[in-house]
Amino acid sequence: MSETTGIDGHMHGDILLRMEKKFPSIYYNNHIGGIIWAYNEKIKSIEDYSTYWKSLRDIVYHISRPTSPFFYKVGIHPRTICYELKINNSLFEELKKVLEYHIKDPRCLGIGEIGLDEKDSSQESIFIEQLKWCRDFLPQDKKIGIHTPRKNKKEITKRILEILEDFKGLYDQIIIDHVEITTIDLIKELNIQIGMTLQQGKSTPMDIKKLVEEGLYNTDKIILNSDGGKKISNPYFDFIKNKYISNEIKTKLIKHNIVSFYKLERFL
Ligand SMILES: [Zn+2]
Repeated sequence: MSETTGIDGHMHGDILLRMEKKFPSIYYNNHIGGIIWAYNEKIKSIEDYSTYWKSLRDIVYHISRPTSPFFYKVGIHPRTICYELKINNSLFEELKKVLEYHIKDPRCLGIGEIGLDEKDSSQESIFIEQLKWCRDFLPQDKKIGIHTPRKNKKEITKRILEILEDFKGLYDQIIIDHVEITTIDLIKELNIQIGMTLQQGKSTPMDIKKLVEEGLYNTDKIILNSDGGKKISNPYFDFIKNKYISNEIKTKLIKHNIVSFYKLERFL
């Protein structure tokens, strides 16, 4: 009997469905599932968030296969804060019931992606609103996915960690993503999961090989992903198919750590 090879810990299946003909067959052929994180540049109003999150739910139910299960997260990415929310963050109230609805869905794994993309007061305020919602309403088995940017990665990651200090009770539910060799030291001592993205311009298979071989990092905490959106990430599938590191550790990074962090055993 064939089984799931891995779960892509962060991807954008909704965008791939529009942009990349080979999706989802590449995922099916490799027995890879995925977690779709919410990110939509087209959001113009508060109502658009609800419509968008509902579309993610529909997509994961539609594309999931037994050896390629898909899941989703809901939330407001720092680059997708619509104008009315930017000028009036109390409108976030209107979304709380919608978040509660999704969070009860077994295929909704939590909130994400949230976080900061740059130093910006409205991004900080919407990030904090969402963390407060998580503190009050997020069940223990659901998780929080935090984005870190390409630009000024170290500085913005530090600011994110400062904000998180007020939410220490959530640490074991948090994954900070797009962590790279240059930022992993900031996070490795904390009880927070580390997401690393194999993509052009982000981490490379050789970076992962180096981390694992140096043995400086607790590989139980690292979850790999493609962040594939406009196109399928070749470095991710290169890593899946080739032998950069031992099969045992590779399976941990692409499957077991994800299954245990998100409690996905019952879906496999
Ligand atoms: Zn993403």
